[in-house]
Amino acid sequence: MGSLVTAVASYLDARSNRGEWLVRIEDLDPPREKLGAAAQILSDLCDHGLLWDGEVIFQSNRYRAYESALSYLIERHMVFKCGCSRKKLNDDGTCASKCSSRQDSLNENVALRFNNGIQADIKVNDFIFGEKIWHTRNIPKDFIIRRRDGLFSYQLAVVVDDASQGITHIIRGSDLLDSTPQQHEIASALNLSRLKYGHIPTITNKEGKKLSKQALAPSVDANQAAQNLRQALLLLGQLQPTASLETPSQILCSAIESWDRDAIPKKSSLPHVPLKI
Ligand SMILES: [Zn+2]
Repeated sequence: MGSLVTAVASYLDARSNRGEWLVRIEDLDPPREKLGAAAQILSDLCDHGLLWDGEVIFQSNRYRAYESALSYLIERHMVFKCGCSRKKLNDDGTCASKCSSRQDSLNENVALRFNNGIQADIKVNDFIFGEKIWHTRNIPKDFIIRRRDGLFSYQLAVVVDDASQGITHIIRGSDLLDSTPQQHEIASALNLSRLKYGHIPTITNKEGKKLSKQALAPSVDANQAAQNLRQALLLLGQLQPTASLETPSQILCSAIESWDRDAIPKKSSLPHVPLKI
């Protein structure tokens, strides 16, 4: 239900602004992906009438694009090698050993970190949450962009993909809010324009834990697609489509017409208590 709410919000926002709605499968770490997970996601979206534009992008096919972004950063001396073990890092995850000034002496089996000399606060006008400011001390420094085992970081991959897909607006759960400054930093370093972000509440269970596969939240039942959509609209503070509308596409058509960003609760999380509609 947590993923469905985010999908519904971004779908309705794109459609009500006559935009395209794109789907990307973020399978950066193929060995850890559950077999068939991507197919299940796409079939769940279809069952709920959430039909996307264009082709689906798989991050597991995009390594060359990430490599070339990385080369661009290396050429501009914005990356350094860090062979420090976790124990040797500062509490905030930054490199404590001045690896940035002795990069040539390290072997290849090391993590690559972003050499961001952040000088100023980052201010973002979130189109749902409102203005948000990160002070320099709260912006992650030296964060990893390619891990020791060669996997690219989520932060680098999404910035590269957003640009190549021509993304302008992103709606996502507020658990990703604090990724925004890092993504802005990478985008600036790659000479890409900043995107517009809207963060919606993360949907949690009664105990306040995010509803996700990791928390073993149940999958939505595709046989109850219409009801699931109504639940999602309720959580998003939207008007309920009239009861006579029965199919997912009827419900979504009505919800596009009445979509109201301002009605989305301005909270970082919301408990999902199944409600009778
Ligand atoms: Zn280091």
